[in-house]
Amino acid sequence: MRLREAILQRGFRTPRPSPLHCMVEMDHAFVVDWDGRLYKCPAFIGRPRFAVGDLKTGPAPSDAYRPGRWQTDECLACPYLPQCFGGCRHLSYVAHGGLGRIDCARSWFDAVLPEMVRQDVGYGKR
Ligand code: SF4
Repeated sequence: MRLREAILQRGFRTPRPSPLHCMVEMDHAFVVDWDGRLYKCPAFIGRPRFAVGDLKTGPAPSDAYRPGRWQTDECLACPYLPQCFGGCRHLSYVAHGGLGRIDCARSWFDAVLPEMVRQDVGYGKR
């Protein structure tokens, strides 16, 4: 938040809180590795078990990234769902060794979002 404050103080633009558009949840979004393999997230490039097809054969159906994992009672009732959609797959992988467990950032949103809005209002960005 201090860095964001310094950016705004100096009159530069910085992203506002906005809905997340994660490639995992988009049907037609892929990233291509050097060898033509397709992935649903650039952070997983180089881990073949997360490849979802290749340029020759096209995308293949896969549950490797757990799309729709935010469709739980907890996430559906959460006010941060449009900013989160169940959290970052890569952070889950790093923190838990897999994508089965959600890396819930609710406490982070609780702490940071109100302050971001206060900053934006204070600097006339809203
Ligand atoms: S903050 Fe937690 S509960 Fe809310 S949508 Fe994200 S993962 Fe689900």
